[in-house]
Amino acid sequence: MANILSKFYVKTKPLSIKEYKENGGFEGLEKALHKMKPQEILDEVISSNLKGRGGATFPTGLKWQFTANESNETKYIICNADEGEPGTFKDKVLLEGCPFLLIEGMIIAAYAVGGTKGYIYIRGEYPKSKEMLRNAIGVLKDEGYLGDKILDTDFSFDIEVRSGYGAYICGEETALIESIEGNPGRARTKPPYPPNKGLWGKPTLVNNVETLANIPIILSMGAEKFKEYGTASSSGTKLISVSGSVVNKGVFEVEFGVTLKDIVYETCGGLTENSKFKFLQLGGSAGACLPENLLDTKLDFDDLRSRNISLGSGAILVADDTTCLLGFIKATAEFFEHESCGKCTPCREGNKHVTKLLDKIVNGVATVEDLEILKDVALTMKEMSLCGLGQAAPTALLTTLNYFEGEYNEHIKGYCRTGVCFMKGGEV
Ligand code: NAD
Repeated sequence: MANILSKFYVKTKPLSIKEYKENGGFEGLEKALHKMKPQEILDEVISSNLKGRGGATFPTGLKWQFTANESNETKYIICNADEGEPGTFKDKVLLEGCPFLLIEGMIIAAYAVGGTKGYIYIRGEYPKSKEMLRNAIGVLKDEGYLGDKILDTDFSFDIEVRSGYGAYICGEETALIESIEGNPGRARTKPPYPPNKGLWGKPTLVNNVETLANIPIILSMGAEKFKEYGTASSSGTKLISVSGSVVNKGVFEVEFGVTLKDIVYETCGGLTENSKFKFLQLGGSAGACLPENLLDTKLDFDDLRSRNISLGSGAILVADDTTCLLGFIKATAEFFEHESCGKCTPCREGNKHVTKLLDKIVNGVATVEDLEILKDVALTMKEMSLCGLGQAAPTALLTTLNYFEGEYNEHIKGYCRTGVCFMKGGEV
């Protein structure tokens, strides 16, 4: 297992600023502020080939360059810490294990793109992380890393922590921006993208916690060394959050290039006793459900793209054969129905239709035509929804219709192989 990020959070309590510095903390910032011009930093991040770790895998350096190219005097840097994807808890480990790392990344980002003010938008369900972030910001102000004339330069930057309150949609960057502005969390139409027009209409760089945490590492070790980790298309490491029927659950740092099989059977020690593998969901509730024969898939953006699979937030759920696939998909659909912000019709109405149809299927009263309608609605949501929530909501459904269609047909015929759905011995 790799440890370029995890060396900063291995302890049971967060690193003190002294321990952080002993571990190489602030080397990247010192180098950036004292030895590099903003464009040199942008070039280094572009050259590192770092891709966003929140889920969308957009090239980070390019996003920074777009923001830097805007000439406005006011620009914002937002750290997206609204980690709401079910099964995803890797940012929490960074937030609580070493908040200095992501804050250092934010300060470097601000210096590189001309950012004047920073916000960390953290999910309301992480009160401990919020408190630790606020403490860390206080320490960094006292030490001269935040505030006016940082490290005796002319560069000034400060960070405010804002909290979400349980809405999954607020992790979508434009809904998050609306929320900071004091409006209901609803996605905006893109373009314009935040790097051009974001918070209060100003250029805004929005990056995930893990993305920002990689920045000090890239700056201190250099882009070339960073690229020695991972593969040609996917540099560095990835934090994955693993749950379900495996022996070792939790957050692990793995190098890109590792296969899903390695993760399940080596990193996580295989399936729990007497469990038989059924499927692996990659990327949280919005992710694909994969059968065993796809466990040779690599955590590598090229390999994933060639198989039409998205890494998403890096959540991995391993389900064993006691899981009723249909019950699982229905629970997922109910989550998205509840979390849809209601702004666009495909997501608002689509999620309702999907839940109703799945309800019929798990109750043994659906028809073959219902299955066709289900596919149709799911594809419409994927193609027509306004933001990532609606577009990704039917992913688990569509992938299971593809890989596990037999189990849908069994339910339509009144048979549930796990016996979970129907009243008597698995049959209606
Ligand atoms: P997206 O593809 O629309 O955008 C990705 C990023 O690139 C955005 O920041 C966007 O502004 C930027 N971008 C794209 N094109 C641009 C351009 N031409 N100019 C400037 N900037 C540009 O994806 P998204 O909707 O931001 O994110 C969707 C992903 O979020 C999904 O893949 C899902 O996995 C993930 N997600 C993660 C969590 C979590 O808890 N980590 C929760 C929900 C969803």
